[in-house]
Amino acid sequence: MLWPILTAFSLAALVCLQVWWRGRFLRIQRASRTQIEALQEEKRRTALQMQTQQEVLFDSIVEGVLLLDERGRIQLANRAFATLFGVTVDIRGRTLMEALRLHELADLVKSLDSQKQVLGYELKLSGLSERWLQVNAAAIFNGDGRRHGTVLVFHDLTRLKKLESARQEFVANVSHELRTPLSLIKGYVETLLDGARDNPEVATKFLQTIDRNAERLKLLIEDLLTISELESGRVKLNLSAVALSSVVAKVLEDFKTRAAAKSVKLVNQVPDLAVRADVDRLEQVLGNLVDNAIKYGGANCTVTVGGNAREGGHVEVSVQDNGPGIPPEALKRVFERFYRVDKARSREQGGTGLGLAIVKHLIQSHGGRVWATSELGRGTTFFFTLDQATGNLQQPLL
Ligand code: ADP
Repeated sequence: MLWPILTAFSLAALVCLQVWWRGRFLRIQRASRTQIEALQEEKRRTALQMQTQQEVLFDSIVEGVLLLDERGRIQLANRAFATLFGVTVDIRGRTLMEALRLHELADLVKSLDSQKQVLGYELKLSGLSERWLQVNAAAIFNGDGRRHGTVLVFHDLTRLKKLESARQEFVANVSHELRTPLSLIKGYVETLLDGARDNPEVATKFLQTIDRNAERLKLLIEDLLTISELESGRVKLNLSAVALSSVVAKVLEDFKTRAAAKSVKLVNQVPDLAVRADVDRLEQVLGNLVDNAIKYGGANCTVTVGGNAREGGHVEVSVQDNGPGIPPEALKRVFERFYRVDKARSREQGGTGLGLAIVKHLIQSHGGRVWATSELGRGTTFFFTLDQATGNLQQPLL
């Protein structure tokens, strides 16, 4: 009788143990699953954080950076890269050819099959605005020496290239400008030495031509030195509150004789206004503009200098003539160095082609703007702005 009871009791105990054990097992299993999920979530968050940090880092690099995987597909392209190539969509996962259609770049990546890196490769992108890029590319290898991907770094050379070509153009222009008067001087000196000096009348004429060309060279060199000084940023402006009308009066007085010789009328219409400027530089600006108006306005024209206070605390100064005017396509270029509407006329008037470029530099270094309007047959007006000033006024030295 005892055995069956004991057996039943043991069986019941075993079932209870089994139930308890299973419950405990399930609880442990659930706890570990939650723990694994938490760990996985943590890992995913860390990976995402690392990726974001990496992207922020890459995006903060000024150079364009492109990372390709072992199959040549784009893994990462930073913000600078997108700007350089005008990319507006996500190009990850595409090949270089699919994303950019640039054979030259695809060939460059291909060349890394046979060499580890390519440094200083120059790539020209034609399009709306031409761009020059310097590309440094390197193959990335695994620890076991297998190709794992490619990294390309793009450096924008456009500004440098433009500066280089502007410098070359400037040197060519300067050489050309210097060569003309120099070869004239040399030619006349040789003719004088060859015997022309024995004829006093001819000799005087030749010497006058030599003198004129030497003067041209002097003016050109002076203007070149001014331009170089202005462009180097070494010019220090001595700014003060200046009575605009007095400066204009002084400049017009300086040009009185030259204007009278061409029957040009000079008019000062500047009201009582004060500007913040360097007096000497302001005289130089007004001098160049009035000189041009007399030179190109033609005989019997009127040159009027005006001034108006405008909103925003600045003064707009104008130098107007009623001469032949400047054609619209030339008007856009008159502030360029060595640009002349009529080359022969400018040279005949002793122009260097640098006057307006100097005016533009001087006004910009004062923080102002300069521009011109013109109507063929009716005349030209040059405008510039300066800050209006208050306080004690400085008068020009007469
Ligand atoms: P330049 O030494 O030849 O006078 P500038 O830079 O002062 O050089 O002027 C550039 C060109 O702009 C001149 O060669 C001339 O053709 C044109 N120009 C300047 N001012 C006037 C004006 N008031 N009327 C007509 N043309 C002008």
